[in-house]
Amino acid sequence: MAWRNCVGVEVHVQLKTESKMFCSCSADFGGEPNSRCCPVCLGLPGSLPVPNEQAIEFVIRTGLALNCQVAQRCRFARKNYFYPDLPKNYQISQYDEPLTFGGWIDLEVDGQPVRIRIRRAHLEEDTGKNIHLPDGRSVVDYNRCGVPLMEIVTEPDFTDAEQVRAYLQALRQLLRYLEVSDADMEKGQMRCEPTVNLVNDETGERTPKVEIKNLNSIRSVYEAVRYELARQREAVERGEPLYQETRRWDEANAVTTTMRRKETADDYMYFPDPDLVPVEPSREWVEQVRAALPELPAARRRRFIEEYGLPAYDAGVLTEEKAVADYFEAVAQACGDAKAASNWVMTEVLRYLKEQGIGIDEFPLPPSHIAQLIGLVREGTVSSTIAKEVFARACADGRSPREIVEQDGLAQISDAAALEGLVEEAIAANPRAVADFQAGKEKALGAIVGHVMRATKGQANPALVNEMVRKRVQEL
Ligand SMILES: [Zn+2]
Repeated sequence: MAWRNCVGVEVHVQLKTESKMFCSCSADFGGEPNSRCCPVCLGLPGSLPVPNEQAIEFVIRTGLALNCQVAQRCRFARKNYFYPDLPKNYQISQYDEPLTFGGWIDLEVDGQPVRIRIRRAHLEEDTGKNIHLPDGRSVVDYNRCGVPLMEIVTEPDFTDAEQVRAYLQALRQLLRYLEVSDADMEKGQMRCEPTVNLVNDETGERTPKVEIKNLNSIRSVYEAVRYELARQREAVERGEPLYQETRRWDEANAVTTTMRRKETADDYMYFPDPDLVPVEPSREWVEQVRAALPELPAARRRRFIEEYGLPAYDAGVLTEEKAVADYFEAVAQACGDAKAASNWVMTEVLRYLKEQGIGIDEFPLPPSHIAQLIGLVREGTVSSTIAKEVFARACADGRSPREIVEQDGLAQISDAAALEGLVEEAIAANPRAVADFQAGKEKALGAIVGHVMRATKGQANPALVNEMVRKRVQEL
């Protein structure tokens, strides 16, 4: 097959700034409709925009993390179009002079390294929101109008939907590590528009580019790209016409449908915004931002493997979220046992978060308490089974593990004298197991040991009980 898949991705990211891009209105999500607006974001005559320095820094931070260059000088441009949620009649964006450009991101897809080139990461402003009421009227909420948006555009380097999915997962993780956005697709904080076409390297032919909109999860992007690649391939094989157009992903029917035949950049009549001076980030500032970049996910994963000797899988799970990785490191340092820390965080802590539907920032136990629990197991004060019970009680009432063990009498019973009576009782209650053992069935002892463990609610030292039971039965 001479036709090659060609997919590029545009992502819009809502930046986590306090105020809007060109005015001091709050950029927070929600609020009473049209309560967070001013003459600037409503585009009233005579108002002048002032760029948000924090938003510029967030884009530089992201650009540097994506190996981009930062422009010495760049300008904002007006993208002219009319839509009711855009009161100025134009959107302030960047056109031929983006703030950052020419980078790349390395991914791993099915165990294979893939490098995707980043064309640019630039700044623009969001639009308001049209709301269509059940009675047929439409109203507009301008609260979102002017909220800073970062647009990240890749080169058309993706050759399948799996690569696109891996990119979006890596990008979302990166944006959260950089603390520039919460990047929640369901809340519209990260919006993705893939562009799909096919290229014939032998003849130089290309199918027209199709942009897909209305995608609100990484899964829907994955499915829409797969569908669109297959649709274009089938059309080429059948000799059917294809058009340059914008298509909408229809989630319910799992198909893309025509939204509008595509406009070109000329339709927007871009020109430099005369109200805004060029942005000229100083080299000192750019280097300060670079020096302050946090350790990025891929580097942290590698370090967890090398420094703590963790398996690649554990390192991947623990670095998924920056706050979880921070938590794990605090536990590992406090208890001096990275493998035990990893086991506790990956199983008990993450399970608790999932069950409660909360994030690690709301988790009730400080890292020092998990470290204390690991110490109690290591010194033999509690068994690993009882440790889970201690963990549950600590989550419920906030006491420290050591307090719980002392106050609730949960210490492991390792005193033979305290267990003798129970061992006798268990032997008397299980004559069949005793007979089976004497007939050569090793496993029969389990029933007697289990009896003692149940009688002590799991607190007896299992190794000691095993030894005592065996010795006593052999004496019979
Ligand atoms: Zn405003």
